Amino acid sequence: MYEVIKNNVDRILPRLIELSDWIGRHPELGSEEYESSRLLAEELEKNGFLVERGVLKMETAFRAIYKDSPSGPKIAFLAEYDALPGVGHACGHNIIGTAAVGAGIVLKELLRSLPGEVLVVGCPAEEGHGPNAGAKRVMAEAGLFNDVDVAMMIHPTSGKTTVSERFLAVTGITIEFIGKAAHAAASPHSGVNALNAAVLAFMAVHANRQQLRRDANAVIHGIIKEGGLASNIIPERSVLQFGVRSSDDSYIPELVRMVENCARGAATATGCEVRIEVRPGLRSSLRNEPLERLFVRVFKEIGEEIEDPTITAARPPVGSTDFSEVTHVVPGIHPMISIAPEGVALHSKEFAEAALSNTGHRGLEIGVKALAMAGMEILTSPELISEIKSYFEMVKGKK
Ligand SMILES: [Zn+2]
Ligand SMILES: [Zn+2]
Repeated sequence: MYEVIKNNVDRILPRLIELSDWIGRHPELGSEEYESSRLLAEELEKNGFLVERGVLKMETAFRAIYKDSPSGPKIAFLAEYDALPGVGHACGHNIIGTAAVGAGIVLKELLRSLPGEVLVVGCPAEEGHGPNAGAKRVMAEAGLFNDVDVAMMIHPTSGKTTVSERFLAVTGITIEFIGKAAHAAASPHSGVNALNAAVLAFMAVHANRQQLRRDANAVIHGIIKEGGLASNIIPERSVLQFGVRSSDDSYIPELVRMVENCARGAATATGCEVRIEVRPGLRSSLRNEPLERLFVRVFKEIGEEIEDPTITAARPPVGSTDFSEVTHVVPGIHPMISIAPEGVALHSKEFAEAALSNTGHRGLEIGVKALAMAGMEILTSPELISEIKSYFEMVKGKK
């Protein structure tokens, strides 16, 4: 069956490359991926999937279902297709979306002889832009994955291909300081300086960095989003945005409290009012070792070299993804496939170029083959499913 899958992928690969490159050259920000999601949903429809658009009132989300029999395992491939401001498809989500669609089409061909169901879920705004940010969390909370046996996706990366990547929990905090405008030279005494509050809050967060728990892989990152309108006006409004991350979910509330305290202290010091908004966050990911072993096998079959999973898993996680929320509901895996040499940073222009290059096309091919082969293994092996599920229950029980 591996040979059948490889041949079927090779057959549709030119079309998949066309789709991936089109999305790559027409980057759309999260929650606004109208053309990209339409293109992928239509491709699935053309291939016999039943497509529901605007899932959970998210315009650019879709769910495509294919089943020939009422029973059997249910496999979900997750698609992303949002880009980043300024740098386009610098996270390579054009490859993710197209790989999920390709794997869905290829695995669906096998359903003629196997019981089961294939689902391709179009997930908007992974990068956190717009009203549909964190779409996979919304979908997971709404029970969209409840009857799915395994959820899978791939993500392009630089350096080595990995199967055991872990992801940090993250929560976003927006802080707004409200002061009072005044002429900066003629009547500064009647003003209240909101920029000074922002700078103080920033420095107060810095003052706490050394005391962060290193074992929890804590990261705090932030920007001054607004800091006044002109240098001859005392700024009456400033806005800060922070993200706090950790590999320990239980550490996040403490980090949020620390940032809030820094903001309140700065407000008191400068006489500003402060408004703090803490957005619903994402948890860290749950591993599934049987699924990781499955991907080690399929990558070997394809001839894709991977980093030793024990090395990958021992490294501190670097990013966060809303896919982590899915791994708390059903067993899931998010392998990273190399499309660029070590040192090419994700979210850079160079990475966006790689996502459209021959190495990007190769990553797409590997991704489709790996997802489809893993799907086939799951569909044909009840023992594998029960191993994956008992591992999931075990790690979930520890949380
Ligand atoms: Zn990204
Ligand atoms: Zn990404």
